[in-house]
Amino acid sequence: MKKQVTALLCLSLLVLPACNAGTEATSSSEPAPTSEAAPQAMPIEYSDSGYAEAPVQADADMYAMDTVMHFRVYGRDKAQAGKAIEDAFAEIKRLDALMSTNQKQSELAVLNRTGTTTLSKDNAYLLKRAMEINDQTDGHFNIAVYPLVKAWGFTTQKYNVPSEETITKLLPLTEVKDVHFDEKSGKVSLAKKNMGLDFGGIAKGYASQRLMDIFKKDGIPGGLVTLGGNTQLYRSKPDGSDFAVGVQNPQDVEDYVGVIRGSDEAIITSGIYQRFFERDGKKYHHIIDPATGAPADNTLSSATVICQDGTTADALATALMIMGRDEAIAFWQKNADRFEMVLIDKDNKVTITPGLQDRYTPKDRPAPEVIAHGA
Ligand code: ADP
Ligand code: MG
Repeated sequence: MKKQVTALLCLSLLVLPACNAGTEATSSSEPAPTSEAAPQAMPIEYSDSGYAEAPVQADADMYAMDTVMHFRVYGRDKAQAGKAIEDAFAEIKRLDALMSTNQKQSELAVLNRTGTTTLSKDNAYLLKRAMEINDQTDGHFNIAVYPLVKAWGFTTQKYNVPSEETITKLLPLTEVKDVHFDEKSGKVSLAKKNMGLDFGGIAKGYASQRLMDIFKKDGIPGGLVTLGGNTQLYRSKPDGSDFAVGVQNPQDVEDYVGVIRGSDEAIITSGIYQRFFERDGKKYHHIIDPATGAPADNTLSSATVICQDGTTADALATALMIMGRDEAIAFWQKNADRFEMVLIDKDNKVTITPGLQDRYTPKDRPAPEVIAHGA
């Protein structure tokens, strides 16, 4: 277990050299390690931030929610910065225990085993948001897709290409209308046997959003978190300047295609290139199109959503990957006030929304295509 975490941290550090090249974080998907691992926090490292306003910088890695996380916090002193990181560790542990489908006692695991449970506040909120976003995205974002995610082996890393017959059998078990949820009591029940819910497409966005609340409570001047490469920025750097977040290059995960400057927002990427397996020369990734029961099959390699709310950004990024380029663009045009996005096609063509034009800088490549506002 320890060995595995060390290996993972090295992997995250492959992303971090980008920091030295002028980015504080890289927004990307990270590979899924084995699913049973319990959350593990690494030692906090303190350094001189170089900012008079908040001289201490604290950095720490954590392994949780099947991914490697990195937290950076600025503070007036070691005690303040350290406390914010410790509080972040504790919050992630709490959420991991609530939301994991692999920890036997988590609310979701109980629901998936028994078909009914009463959700606590965080899970109830997440289910409500997930159902709203299901509605807004024409069913593309669908947490009831769990039986399919399982059939493809993504829950256990025992990968498998299910037969047409299996998929046909499972599709009717993935309908959100069969998730009966009473918001007031938190009681949820699944109408059909063998249904299940999976928060994998939204939980990390919610977690990073919660960390922003923690940082606010701790009164730190600024910080950022990357959860499996998904980034959320708390305020700005101590001198008020923007952070720089790299958008990962799907063709070379140690590289990035460009940098987004920003503060106080989530920058969350969903991509087909990190969690996947190969069978008979074909790649199968983990974003399942609820219409077909198979991995989404279109020209997109990654979709990055930028907006204030981490939960929304995470769910939308997953949904855009299923929509594909044209539908994603049309969706943005109808919802232009809600989010910005970066789409990367399989040929590595980069497309951005006009709101990013002034704060996106391509790295060693031509300027991206800019989407026009809708009619
Ligand atoms: P990552 O977890 O790599 O950041 P995503 O946010 O796109 O990427 O989440 C993908 C995960 O979401 C899958 O591993 C699975 O657990 C779940 N999932 C797969 N397909 C869907 C879907 N259509 N709607 C909602 N969640 C999905
Ligand atoms: Mg997502």
